[in-house]
Amino acid sequence: MSSRAALIVVLLILTSLTFATEQSLRPGGVAIVDLGNSDEPVPEATLDGNPLLVMRRDERWVAVVGIPLDTEPGSLGINVAGKVSNIQVSEHAYREQRLSVENESFVTQTEEQLDRIWGERKIIDAALTHFRNIPVAGVSLAAPIEGAQSASFGYRRFFNDQPRSPHKGMDISGNNGEPVSAPRDGVVAAIGDFFFNGNTVLIDHGQGFVTMYCHLSEITVEKGQQVSTGETIGTVGATGRVTGPHLHFGTYLNGTAVDPAIFLN
Ligand SMILES: [Zn+2]
Repeated sequence: MSSRAALIVVLLILTSLTFATEQSLRPGGVAIVDLGNSDEPVPEATLDGNPLLVMRRDERWVAVVGIPLDTEPGSLGINVAGKVSNIQVSEHAYREQRLSVENESFVTQTEEQLDRIWGERKIIDAALTHFRNIPVAGVSLAAPIEGAQSASFGYRRFFNDQPRSPHKGMDISGNNGEPVSAPRDGVVAAIGDFFFNGNTVLIDHGQGFVTMYCHLSEITVEKGQQVSTGETIGTVGATGRVTGPHLHFGTYLNGTAVDPAIFLN
């Protein structure tokens, strides 16, 4: 092989390493499952009855599977064209986060607030579980803002010693009013001013791959709007139940929250 050809091979390997999303076989991680040659028709794959994202990679069909945060370590079966294919999920200890909050409204909600939260949950879940069946070319994401990306996904949270649901996104530092951009092309699936999440945008990138942006000071897109990578969707803020401005960035596959760090280039 000439040195020039060798250099091209090295560059190709580096390119695929840099831009191909790697699997991470832990609760809250992502499995990439080979489904056969992409000359064949696209196979149907599901987990717990939810359709999975299937895309082409290197002449193969692969399912990109979100592993739910509450998955027990061991075998997790996905259904591929009627047959079970097993993923081996490893153990992962997410950190505990204990917060003491003086403002009781962070911890306890009134009946009226619970009604509101329930209604909002339905809007959010509908956006997260909607399967828009379009071809998906990849799942890599650009950072929505430039700030420091915390390893806060999966934190097991306690507010005043009361257990809360785990932290299902990544908190990124940002300044009030800083523009937040779409990390990949998509369609705005939902917007709203929600009790916990504040001003929120959800973007549907196809086949159940959905990203979420919370605590925005302003939303600059509308539901149903097409957005392109880099387009501003809102601005960083501190709306909802937060103590200061930052961006809560969530990424979802097959209706389940997975670690955004997996997709960021
Ligand atoms: Zn957060």
